[in-house]
Amino acid sequence: MTMKTAFHTDHKFAYELDAIDPLRTYRDHFYLDKSKIYLDGNSLGLLSKSSEKSLLRVIAEWKKHAIDGWTKASKPWFSYAEELARQQAPLLGAKADEIILHASTTINIHLLLAAFYKPSEQRNKILIDQLTFPSDRYAVESQLELKGQDVKEALKIINSRDGRYLNEEDIIAAMTDDVAVIFLPSVLYRSAQLLDMALLTAEAHRRGILIGFDCAHSVGAVPHLLSEWQVDFACWCNYKHCNGGPGAAAGIYINEKHFNKKPALCGWFGFRKERQFDMLEEFEGEKNAGGWQIGTPHILSLAPLEGSLKLFNKAGIEKIRKKSLLLTNYLIFLVDTVLSEYGFFVGSPRNETQRGGHVALEHKKAVQINAALKDHRIITDFRFPNIIRIAPLALYNSFNDVWRTVHELKKIMEAKKYKNYPDQRATVA
Ligand SMILES: *Cc1c(COP(=O)(O)O)cnc(C)c1O
Repeated sequence: MTMKTAFHTDHKFAYELDAIDPLRTYRDHFYLDKSKIYLDGNSLGLLSKSSEKSLLRVIAEWKKHAIDGWTKASKPWFSYAEELARQQAPLLGAKADEIILHASTTINIHLLLAAFYKPSEQRNKILIDQLTFPSDRYAVESQLELKGQDVKEALKIINSRDGRYLNEEDIIAAMTDDVAVIFLPSVLYRSAQLLDMALLTAEAHRRGILIGFDCAHSVGAVPHLLSEWQVDFACWCNYKHCNGGPGAAAGIYINEKHFNKKPALCGWFGFRKERQFDMLEEFEGEKNAGGWQIGTPHILSLAPLEGSLKLFNKAGIEKIRKKSLLLTNYLIFLVDTVLSEYGFFVGSPRNETQRGGHVALEHKKAVQINAALKDHRIITDFRFPNIIRIAPLALYNSFNDVWRTVHELKKIMEAKKYKNYPDQRATVA
């Protein structure tokens, strides 16, 4: 069943896969528009009934308790970020206090690098990759500037050989003794390549280099063992695979060996919790990831995550990964067989151990094809210049969704329907 060669192209087979899917009932927990097929959960995950419930409960508790919600809410707001971090820890393979939910990914990159990047004469470079998400690079460059570095000199960039993937050998070769910090994506946002975080961490540490990962595209889709791998720090978004809602509080991981490190951007919500309201003059941080919080936690941007994490923990990340790979393997199989004559190229790793939770379908008419799909109520996303990203998510997508998408694509290509759509992208792609 997990073998690609065992797949069949007929529609009946998709229904058979759905019938034996151990996660098939999770779909009922989500608000799915029955008239659409949603395959964009790697950009914005769907609302679950469970998330709606936790959000409405927090609002009701605000109504009832007002200021006292900080201590009297059923899950007191004062420790809500810590409580949800504890619930998310299994998705990251982290100890509960190595995680905190806080701010947004880009802000967290800033606060992590502000503390972890300490340039010296010997080591002043930050190593990133050419394919990284633009915001990550902007943040890295501004951190270099803040530390008085010349970006051109101190930013070291690993190039991609083909514009799609990174080669782990190239990354390791770039770990020279002038590198202070490495900051890489776990899963590349375009091609979905999953980097070998265990290997890269071991190689970095062998050379005395700190290493952090942006897990925005892997959290909730791929199991992590951040503690076991001894990754120094990490961050991630919670509105993508984790379904925490638009602008959901993001995540920070600090390996416990760094608990004595002082955050560079201190604020009162990082203060030792039992003394925070003593309003002392001198900062005394909590000696765990919680100590990296800056200001008041965004309670309403945390609340939906509570319900969502319940579903993740019930399903289990191993089962989610297994189904996710079966979905993307099936998708690739159907592209290879059903769409073979239409000029598509699978721009994601065919080896499943190197693939995250989505598939990049490349085509020179991608922008028009993506628009045609949307008009046919199939929601994917376009990435400039030629990628349609398709993310069948384990908790709410079915094998039938994948089958129907590929066959709709076939119709669009056969009848050249994509030609009816403009050759340019929308503002939010
Ligand atoms: C989605 C994403 C972001 C977005 O950052 P925000 O601060 O949440 O806007 C940053 N980096 C990566 C790698 C992403 O995938």
